[in-house]
Amino acid sequence: MPELPEVEVTRRRIAPLLVGRRIAAVETTRDSYFFVTKPDALRRALVGRRVVKLDRHGKYLIAALDDGQRFVLHLGMTGQLFGAGATSVRLLSAAARASLPPEAQVAFSPDAHTHLRLRFEDPGPEVLFRDVRKFGKVFLLGEGEESRRLGRLGEDALVARADALWPLLHHRRTAIKNVLLDQAVLAGVGNIYADEALFLAGIRPRRSASRVTRSELARLVDAVHAVLARSIETGGSSISDYVAPDGSDGGYQDERRVYAREGEPCRKCGATIRRIVIGQRSAHYCPACQR
Ligand SMILES: [Zn+2]
Repeated sequence: MPELPEVEVTRRRIAPLLVGRRIAAVETTRDSYFFVTKPDALRRALVGRRVVKLDRHGKYLIAALDDGQRFVLHLGMTGQLFGAGATSVRLLSAAARASLPPEAQVAFSPDAHTHLRLRFEDPGPEVLFRDVRKFGKVFLLGEGEESRRLGRLGEDALVARADALWPLLHHRRTAIKNVLLDQAVLAGVGNIYADEALFLAGIRPRRSASRVTRSELARLVDAVHAVLARSIETGGSSISDYVAPDGSDGGYQDERRVYAREGEPCRKCGATIRRIVIGQRSAHYCPACQR
């Protein structure tokens, strides 16, 4: 599943293909739960509009339009947003990938999973939204319109400040790991980055949030920023997406200190990394480095 770093990497790659361009045509697949705003309403609203900027909050991409509307996209589990002409073996089925040499690059042509195609007035490339499992979403917000989906999100994890988080967690008896994953507290942190940040901050995932001190929280927020920034720098992480033979899109999985390293030695102290389950999700930590 794309997490915040993958969505931010997507934002940075796709922004130059969207911002400043006027939409000339919108093509979609048939109406489905992917379209929170119905396809014909999307077409009516988007055609003729120019994209002014592309922001991100948590895992949502928010394109501001020149008439004050916002076009919101969520990549879900398998969503891919890219310019036509993009080449990646990740856009192929597992069977098609298996038949290719690992370094192969293949041009993509829109298929049944390409739910949205934006064409522009200029002759530049189309922008495509492809989603095999279709847990992604697109919707429009009118000028000033509030969104239930966006409204319940906490601060964006990449810019969140410890001072703002402290009142939200110091009284909670929930495991700190679960609080980190609570999108209403911190938008965009998923399992990998929560485990990695807790390791860097030296805090065990099961510790009650109420027993995390203010200075530990400051360290933890710095750690969240550091792991997210590093993952963005390396192009995101591929591990939660699928286990690919190529593994070329994103290098963060090679830098994991604890996540999915159960039974392996801690890279800092040599102790054996443990895996536990908290609230039905796995958590990984070093019993020596984390308290
Ligand atoms: Zn250790």
